[in-house]
Amino acid sequence: MGETRHTRLLIIGSGPAGYTAGVYAARAMLEPLLVQGIEPGGQLTTTTEVENWPGDTEVQGPDLMVRMEAHARAVGCAIESDIITDLDLGERPFTARGDSGTTYTADAVILATGARAKWLGLPSEEKFKGFGVSACATCDGFFYRGQEIVVVGGGNTAVEEALFLTNFASKVTLIHRRDELRAEKVLQDRLFNNPKVETLWFHTLDEVVGTEDPLGVEGVRVRDVRTGAVSEIACKGVFIAIGHAPANELVKDRLETHHGGYVKVEPGTTRTSVPGVFAAGDITDHVYRQAVTSAGMGCMAALDAEKFLAELGVAEGAEAAE
Ligand code: FAD
Ligand code: NAP
Repeated sequence: MGETRHTRLLIIGSGPAGYTAGVYAARAMLEPLLVQGIEPGGQLTTTTEVENWPGDTEVQGPDLMVRMEAHARAVGCAIESDIITDLDLGERPFTARGDSGTTYTADAVILATGARAKWLGLPSEEKFKGFGVSACATCDGFFYRGQEIVVVGGGNTAVEEALFLTNFASKVTLIHRRDELRAEKVLQDRLFNNPKVETLWFHTLDEVVGTEDPLGVEGVRVRDVRTGAVSEIACKGVFIAIGHAPANELVKDRLETHHGGYVKVEPGTTRTSVPGVFAAGDITDHVYRQAVTSAGMGCMAALDAEKFLAELGVAEGAEAAE
């Protein structure tokens, strides 16, 4: 049997939200323990240049996350290389089981497990990821100035990404499998009124095609779902925007969620439906999903947890005095 470790504050996740929570909680003398999960450093370790992290005109995503980890360690946050496989929020202290065999008990928990863009699952999509295929227009749109781009999807994300990309691209083709968008009407109006956007209804993306050396996108093969006819569209960038999935496996039956599984928090706070459990970053954010907003929520979660633990300490002190 593995060991049991108790901590006042357990932070689950090592993206910008988790590490920022670690920095604030350690500096508040909460002696937090952070579990990194399967992707130490989170989503930014899967990208190259990050050009919108304040203070760095350009920084490599993996470098930024190494620095955040070092910062959290330097101020006293304990960091464990482990994956939480089960989280019991039924009573305090909360209990988290690690894949390593360690059981963690905690008076408060910050959940910072992030979200994942959904992908189509095509081999060619995988091949050109980071070389013309992206799931983040805010991150990568700038690289396609004056180029033709395609966007796949019909929800709010796809329409917002398509509109944002018109700031850079000479033309944006939105490819959707039906002839009706899921996106809000106001966004649809903006899309249909934008002269740079063309919509291709009843089509799916079959294959991304491009050059080998250097690796780069030259176009996409698309299929008409009504006739099966395949055609090609020339483009330099392909943005997949078919939805995001919050990494909510640990809590989806234990905490209130909304907007397709994002953990619900009280507006203006990081408090979830269970007192003592706080959520920060992409796991609770169906709108912004940025490194800086995640870091901001990590800070909020640590401050909310500090207040909760202080009040808990006062209550326990009062109980002990009775
Ligand atoms: P994440 O970064 O998703 O981290 C989640 C963490 O939770 C990971 O460490 C994971 O290991 C951990 N975890 C998950 N499950 C468990 C578990 N069971 N047990 C323990 N740990 C667990 N944003 C920008 O602002 N600028 C950019 O340029 C930019 N570029 C991007 C490029 C790409 C390719 C992608 C995919 C995203 C990009 N983003 C960018 C978005 C940004 O990365 C996210 O908004 C941000 O990383 C979210 O931070 P987070 O801390 O909420 O979660
Ligand atoms: P979404 O609403 O689930 O839309 C996904 C879109 O991708 C749908 O149009 C879907 O087609 C299409 N799609 C899914 N799988 C596909 C596949 N395999 N091949 C081709 N197309 C596929 O996802 P989202 O747009 O990311 O939005 C997620 C949530 O966040 C929603 O609640 C949304 O309102 C919210 N959101 C809000 C804002 C905002 O408020 N500004 C912005 C972004 C997101 P079908 O329509 O045919 O199913």
